[in-house]
Amino acid sequence: MLAMATALATAIFIIDTISPLDMAIAVLYVIVVLFSATYLERRGLLLTGAACIGLTVLSFTIMHSENYNLSSTMRGVVSVAAITVTTLLSLKNQHATRALREQADLLDLTHDAIFVRTVDDIITYWNHGAEELYGWTRAQAVGQRASALLHTVFPEPQQDIFEQFQRAGRWEGELVHTTREGASVVVMSRWSLQRDERGRPLAAMETNSDITERKRAENALHQSQAELAHVTRITTMGELTASIAHEINQPLAAVVTNGEACLRWLGRAIPDLGEAKSAVEQMIRNGRRASDVVARLRALARRGEADRVPVDVNEAMNDALLLVERELSNHRVALDLSLDRGVPRVLGDRVQLQQVVINLALNAIQAMAAVPAARRRLRVETRRLADASASAVQIRIADTGPGVEPENIPLLFNAFYSTKSDGMGMGLSISRSIIEAHNGLVAATLNEGGGMCFSVTLPMHEETRP
Ligand code: ADP
Repeated sequence: MLAMATALATAIFIIDTISPLDMAIAVLYVIVVLFSATYLERRGLLLTGAACIGLTVLSFTIMHSENYNLSSTMRGVVSVAAITVTTLLSLKNQHATRALREQADLLDLTHDAIFVRTVDDIITYWNHGAEELYGWTRAQAVGQRASALLHTVFPEPQQDIFEQFQRAGRWEGELVHTTREGASVVVMSRWSLQRDERGRPLAAMETNSDITERKRAENALHQSQAELAHVTRITTMGELTASIAHEINQPLAAVVTNGEACLRWLGRAIPDLGEAKSAVEQMIRNGRRASDVVARLRALARRGEADRVPVDVNEAMNDALLLVERELSNHRVALDLSLDRGVPRVLGDRVQLQQVVINLALNAIQAMAAVPAARRRLRVETRRLADASASAVQIRIADTGPGVEPENIPLLFNAFYSTKSDGMGMGLSISRSIIEAHNGLVAATLNEGGGMCFSVTLPMHEETRP
């Protein structure tokens, strides 16, 4: 490079010094300056400019020391001016380029993977973070089609996302990419659109942060919450064992009684077939009752992924309350049920929602053991909450028990908070996580006339919106 510049400068000097041409040959030194600007730093460039001016002056002196004239002096001055201006402009240009490069280098400092792609999805810039995350070097990635290189999995049809992006100028969402080694990474992706001065889309800058680990942790947490919910559900069922045994035993005892009666009707000298038939019908009815209880229990004990289906809250509540019915009568608690027939359905898991209702009802029944039987009243309500923007379903479970000290209300939902000698303190904590997973809210308040009121608010399922 340096040798070429020197050779060029020497050639210009020789032509300038010995040529008889009446021309500003020295202007050609600007080529030397421009050429040097591509590889020299500030100091080198200044020296080159100065050397070119020196050579111009030297050949002028050699050529015109004797026959000095105005036009050749002017040509010399023009050449010197041209070299000076070119040197200064090159310096300025170098400075601007360096500033731009430094700014671009900043993008390499971030841990996020950043790349720029044209409107046709062709990668034009690829930062260090992208090299690290995806495994392709800048040279390998630039020029490739981004979605093909990364095997992008979009959350919605790609065409829809691209249209949204063009319209809004930005897009944000989760994507799944495949690295060079073939591993899947989940990224939080943010896109910004660059437009030209007429507003036409030019390029997109895509910033991707790796959330694979976070996603994995979230899924593991979700899984363990589901397992915990299952375990506490089984524990709750343990609390109900006495009632459940009674619930099943009653129809079974009836089956035996009916069976004996049937045998008696058949054992007569003239068997009474009509009575025998009705005894068998009773047996069938009682057998069904027992099997219904078992079916409800099995549904509650089932384990598995939480459902996301439309649930009729009233119907789920009725079924859940059937399981605590005996508990209510054993504790001599009166049930005051008020279900609003017009409540919309909610989206979620029927069994989990029943688990919450059973938890709240059992807590209430247990708390009311502290007040005289005549005052024990469990009020269970459903109602529709509606405002201009949204509609929700509210379930309220209120008791006439002793309640809690107001300062303890915030503690109730903490895991392991229990005032019972045999309490685990998980019931309310699990209930809250179930309701929050349904995008709902659960709150505890003290009733005016004494006792606690738990209210669960769930957003209605979109499709049931009138
Ligand atoms: P556990 O029933 O195992 O104690 P929970 O999380 O279901 O666990 O309840 C935590 C605590 O909240 C209970 O120990 C009790 O002190 C209080 N609590 C819950 N429901 C009521 C209620 N209806 N009335 C009074 N106290 C209640």
